Amino acid sequence: MRMLFVINLMTRNQFLKILLASITSTIGERRIFPDSSKTNKEVIVIVIGAGIAGLAVARKLTTKGFQVTILEARNRIGGRIWTNKSLASSVEMGAEIIHGTKGNPITKLSDQFKLQTTKVNLENNEIFDSKGNLLSKEDHSKIEILYKKFLDKLYDLKQKVSPKDSIEYALNIFFSELNINELDKIKLEWMVRSEFEVGYGANLKNLSLKYFDENQSFVGDDILFPSGLSEVTSILARDLNIKLQNVVTKIEYDKKIKVYTSKGEFTSDFAILTLPIGILKKNKIQFSPDLPSNKQNSILNLGMGTINKIFLKFPKRFWNSGQSRFSMVTESNDQICEFNNLNPEENSTILTAFISGEKAISIEHKNKKEITKDCMEIIKKIYGNKTPNPIEIISTKWTSDPFSFGSNSYLAVNSEINDYKILSESVNDLLFFAGEATNFEYPATVHGAYLSGEREADKIIRLTGA
Ligand SMILES: Cc1cc2nc3c(=O)[nH]c(=O)nc-3n(C[C@H](O)[C@H](O)[C@H](O)COP(=O)(O)OP(=O)(O)OC[C@H]3O[C@@H](n4cnc5c(N)ncnc54)[C@H](O)[C@@H]3O)c2cc1C
Repeated sequence: MRMLFVINLMTRNQFLKILLASITSTIGERRIFPDSSKTNKEVIVIVIGAGIAGLAVARKLTTKGFQVTILEARNRIGGRIWTNKSLASSVEMGAEIIHGTKGNPITKLSDQFKLQTTKVNLENNEIFDSKGNLLSKEDHSKIEILYKKFLDKLYDLKQKVSPKDSIEYALNIFFSELNINELDKIKLEWMVRSEFEVGYGANLKNLSLKYFDENQSFVGDDILFPSGLSEVTSILARDLNIKLQNVVTKIEYDKKIKVYTSKGEFTSDFAILTLPIGILKKNKIQFSPDLPSNKQNSILNLGMGTINKIFLKFPKRFWNSGQSRFSMVTESNDQICEFNNLNPEENSTILTAFISGEKAISIEHKNKKEITKDCMEIIKKIYGNKTPNPIEIISTKWTSDPFSFGSNSYLAVNSEINDYKILSESVNDLLFFAGEATNFEYPATVHGAYLSGEREADKIIRLTGA
């Protein structure tokens, strides 16, 4: 995801905060595992979910000798990492780009397993006006200057506002203070929406102004995996005990753990939940006893966004080679206006449209013909009426997905800064929580999910004295 506004360099304060948090969490953890005579082999751990967080935790604990079983609802592993090869070349239905190679655990995995990666250049973008004419250099830089001013305004307002205020509120204030013509307003609003909404999977009115830039990022190139990101999850899953098509419905965690699934019951010493926050928000799993109230509040507060993708396979290429993206400034926020040429294959004939928030949810109810019409309306304005229609089309439906209910977490209006941290806290040293929505530093990313899995494995290792 294009997390454009993540802070690349950790400030001194942030560093101290993280250091302090890691010290207190180590001191705070007692070795209370009830049966200290047990060897790791006798300690049974259930991991719920075989996405990258679940695979990371299971792998680490299995390597340490614990008896680990992963219970996964779907008939595949990977969760929101899902490479689809039905268009002859790979397309990523979920995560695609690994942001920042330096220090990124996914880069380390790709080096370790000698996986092929390619650099992505998302900057190579052509922007067209609503009539299909390429924006002039002057227009382009005018909008960029306005956009930078808007960012300054955001940082200024963020110090003063309450958690209920949104990015849309900031945009309205910005417009009320600035004397710009209607056309420039439309272009600027389009650019803000395009950067923030596609970045976070939610509309401006839902994105927290106070906490819009709290996450961290790795520096270095953005990369993708030409053979598919699922290569990474397949390697991580090797030799793990994974039970597919086991939909978890209830978890009892009194002294021991009892997990109820669509296929039976499982008992264990520990359970690690790596569920998307969409599942927790919809109360798809019953907990006995109930989860602590602060955790329930954080589940309500955090947002679950939607990013959907539409893959259009054309009979031939009509866009400029070497161009990674083209988009059209649209007046209405309902239109599909951004098309990416991310496929690293030379002469690939696939374009990917990214859509987010309410627009993304609404296309889940449209059929292929309607979606094609929406896309081609824009594409033909740019490339002319003779542009061929796609020969195949695939679109994702992350909000209707019963094992995700959305694409990624985000800090929504009314969220509190601690919500991600509260979600990551273990309960009674029996229930543990991993997954992208438990990683305050790197939420909504593949690396964030992976690191959260390793973090929870370490907690159990410390707890058992292993
Ligand atoms: C369209 C899209 C684009 C994205 N783009 C990027 C990107 O470019 N770069 C990036 O870094 N990140 C991106 N992300 C985010 C990234 O995919 C996620 O942050 C990451 O994959 C989450 O991993 P996870 O293990 O936390 O959750 P998941 O992968 O969702 O794993 C959770 C698992 O739990 C299972 N489950 C759910 N309910 C139950 C149940 N009741 N019982 C048992 N199992 C259950 C699910 O089936 C799933 O397998 C994108 C996501 C989407 C959807």
